[in-house]
This record gives sequence, structure tokens and C-alpha cells, in this order.
Amino acid sequence: MTSNPPPDFLDPSLPTLNIGHPAIMNVRGEEVVIPEGLLEKALQELETLEEVSLSDLPSRETGLERLRQIFSIVDRVGDGVSSGMSCHSGCASCCRVIVATTRGESELLRERVRTHPESDKVRWGEGILQRNALLEALSRTRNPPADLGRLEGLIDICEPYEKENQACPFLGPDRMCQVYADRPLLCRICWVLTDPKDCEPGEGPPVKFRTAVFHRAHEMVGKISQHHFLDDRVSPIPYWFREDQGT
Ligand code: SF4
Ligand code: SF4
Repeated sequence: MTSNPPPDFLDPSLPTLNIGHPAIMNVRGEEVVIPEGLLEKALQELETLEEVSLSDLPSRETGLERLRQIFSIVDRVGDGVSSGMSCHSGCASCCRVIVATTRGESELLRERVRTHPESDKVRWGEGILQRNALLEALSRTRNPPADLGRLEGLIDICEPYEKENQACPFLGPDRMCQVYADRPLLCRICWVLTDPKDCEPGEGPPVKFRTAVFHRAHEMVGKISQHHFLDDRVSPIPYWFREDQGT
């Protein structure tokens, strides 16, 4: 484990709207209403969970459980605001960008892959191989090569990657996420207020709904990966699977 600071998952280049903004309007011109107490309760739960998580003895199983608990809190916030957002089932342009994930999140996905029906795994393995070849080729266009284990390296190549219009290997032919229950945090908190078209490669950028809950969850996921998985890297989803292409 290195002594680098916790990863900063927040992309400052994205336009964001926060709670407290005088009017959070969606693409339909409606004001987005946040259920009373939803955010406060979630923040309080995250705070309690953080205290417990960091005093746990480091363990992969405990780390996975803590991540699931964070995701459950975040998903409750997502469910509470989803009716005001543009995101909907089968709307998957956001699955064509680099999703920065921690080791812990990749281990959740690995568990999922392990127990998933074999029928999808050949296609997943091919997609992983192909996306990793692209990531490495793009990395080599930089001098020095972009570090695919650091957020700075991912930001460096995110634009050319997006132009290639390559979907996440876990996106199904029906445009549905095939690892939905175990998807990484960034896939859970991508709530968009503007036209879904803005999420397509070369369009936008979309205006995203962000809250302190999401920021806090980001920090905690990074800390849990360091504490329980002894790893402070962030990498694109397929890059974590480069050594076990037999998925
Ligand atoms: S983030 Fe954009 S592409 Fe993804 S589900 Fe929401 S509106 Fe659709
Ligand atoms: S894990 Fe699922 S939601 Fe996330 S990018 Fe991949 S297909 Fe999309």
C-alpha cells in the first residue's frame, strides 16, 4: 500500500447543482422536490457507518459488506429523487465513459461475475479484453503514459476514450446493466436533470444533480478500499479484470 492521499473522485469539470440551489429544475421545467429529511438522514447514517467501518479489523468480506451498506444509503437517496430526473431504464449513454472505480468496488463486481450464469461471460471477457487494449493504447499516446491506476491518468484520456463510443463490457445487448445490483458508486449517483441526449458522446455536458450525500459516499468508498483492500488506486471498470480475462 502506498501513502498517497485518498482518491478524489469528483470531477470538477462537470456542471453540478447542489441542494440549496434556489431552484433545481429538470428538463421538463419542473422543480425537483427532495423529500423532507431524506438527505439529512442519509448523511447521518453515513457518518455512523464511517466510524464503524474504519475501526473494523481489515477484511475483504467486511469491506464488501460496508460498501453494500453505503450503496444502500445512496440508493435510497436516488430512489427519492429519481422521478425528477431524466435517467430511466435502458438509457445508457453514461455507460460509455470511463467509470473510475476502487479495488473494493471491483471486488464486488468480481463476486458478481463469479456467481453469474456462464452464458454472458464469454461476451464480457471479449469486451474486457477489447476495452483494455483501447485504454492501454490511449495511455501510450501520452508522454509519460497516462497512469491507469490514478484519477489524473483517467482524466487525461477520458475525452479520447469517450470519442471511441465503447460501452462498458457489462452493458447488455438490451442496454441494461447486467451487474446492476453490484455496480460501482459512480454508476449509482449519475443523476441527470437535462436532456438524456446531453449524455451522448460529443454532446452535453449534462447537468448533474449532486448532494453532500454523494460527496461523502465518494470519500468513504475510497477510505474503505484503502482500509479493507489495502489499495488506493482508481481504475476503469475493465482494467481491474485485466489479469483474469477468463471471466
Ligand atoms: S446519466 Fe444520462 S444516459 Fe445515463 S441514465 Fe441518466 S440521462 Fe440516461
Ligand atoms: S457497471 Fe453497469 S451501470 Fe456501470 S457503466 Fe457498466 S453497464 Fe453501466
